[in-house]
Amino acid sequence: MRDQDPGYKADLKILSPGISPLKAGFAAVSITPKVPDKWIDSDNDARYRPGNGDTFIDGNGNGKFEPVWISGFGNSRAANGIHDDLWARTIVVDDGKTRMAIVVLDVIGFMNNHVIDVRKRIPPDAGITYTMIVSTHVHEGPDLLGLWGSSSFKSGVDMDYVEFIKSRIIESVTSAVNNMRPAILEVSEDHESANHLVTDTRNPEIYDPGLRIIKFTDKENGNTLGSLIAWADHPETLWGKNLVITSDFPHYLREGIEKGVYNGLNRVKSGTGGVAVYVNGAIGGLMTTNPDLAVKDPFSDREFNEPAFEKAKAQGEQLALIALNAMDNPVERIDSAGISLIVRTLSLPVDNKLFKLGLLLDIFKRGTSGWMKMRSELAVFKIGSVSFATFPGEVYPEIVNGKIEAPEGQDFNIEPVEVPPVREMMPGKYKFILGLTNDEIGYIIPKSQWDKKYPFTYKYDEAPYGEENSLGPETASILHRNLKEMLNDLNH
Ligand SMILES: [Zn+2]
Repeated sequence: MRDQDPGYKADLKILSPGISPLKAGFAAVSITPKVPDKWIDSDNDARYRPGNGDTFIDGNGNGKFEPVWISGFGNSRAANGIHDDLWARTIVVDDGKTRMAIVVLDVIGFMNNHVIDVRKRIPPDAGITYTMIVSTHVHEGPDLLGLWGSSSFKSGVDMDYVEFIKSRIIESVTSAVNNMRPAILEVSEDHESANHLVTDTRNPEIYDPGLRIIKFTDKENGNTLGSLIAWADHPETLWGKNLVITSDFPHYLREGIEKGVYNGLNRVKSGTGGVAVYVNGAIGGLMTTNPDLAVKDPFSDREFNEPAFEKAKAQGEQLALIALNAMDNPVERIDSAGISLIVRTLSLPVDNKLFKLGLLLDIFKRGTSGWMKMRSELAVFKIGSVSFATFPGEVYPEIVNGKIEAPEGQDFNIEPVEVPPVREMMPGKYKFILGLTNDEIGYIIPKSQWDKKYPFTYKYDEAPYGEENSLGPETASILHRNLKEMLNDLNH
């Protein structure tokens, strides 16, 4: 319950007056965990049940049991192998005055206390003004939040693994700094072609649609340094019975961008090279490619409903093709710009009873910043005509894009609070949302849609899913109020 970082504030306000040449560097460092060599699952139900015949065997043939608990879905899902590597992928951008590092992890979430610890350990000679750590929210990697151990009251987090990730993030950042080159940024967008690859499982049906892309090329030789690809969907296409570690559809998306998309041995579209970095935007409320949503193979009539690697591959390849086609026709080219950056540390009230218990039992391993309060963080920044707003969790798309509702059955009987929409307040022409950035506090739900009590909204038979994984009904309005002030400052 103690504060792990008393007095810590990340607060910054850098308003760049000028225009300067930009530099950028990329790096990709693996954070794949070690998992037991073999797991004998006696009843093939994706759950470890001691005494039920389930056994782990290490490389020496011993029945040694050191499970890696997979996050998302139910408890007690023990990893049984590795399908593809998990990554700490870093973009460093520098305008000669401000140097920002954006690190994206293939994990379900990375708590603010861990972010603070990493910042303190990045060597000062890396010259970083501000480090952001973003999670893709993949549901097929190790538990980092504590919720998916062998039981609900046992944290599934392996602190040695957390320590390993921290050291790899520092490697990733320092190597991206060493790779910095004079850079040109090319912005491209496609707001329609990927919409059939994601569904919304809770009313109102509002998405954070569109792929937004920035390709960074070397100003001197034209080589691709890397790219940032933003979309909004839970990486959980493999769903809850998968037992091998994978980064889900972002794996196939990044491979396609970097190396090209192939139909068998035929290259259908060339890749760009460099390091592709995938980020998620507003994925709350709830953006998913669940088993009800079929995904078509991009090159045949085959359609995949059941969760499977073929389905994640088809989805990732479709996304890569859409992104690569958009990158052929960039809408903006930036080679000089100032970086403006505003950061605020916040203390958010914890209202959720289960989260309070989680803090008391140290399930979350994050400490507090006051009685039943969590330290968290917001950032907004601008590079030329491109602006970014971060959220420390899974924001409902209507808070970002508008059309928050005040449906009958809501618990507070109020009009929408979180208005105007965040994207409307953002400066510039191209607006990126970075979800799960510098924290994972769960769902960020409009207060006028908050619904735990009967009667339920939208004629649901039971309370909709979301509130049980949210800090409380005030979270969205606190974040929105702060973003409004920060974006107002960024605009001036
Ligand atoms: Zn989620």
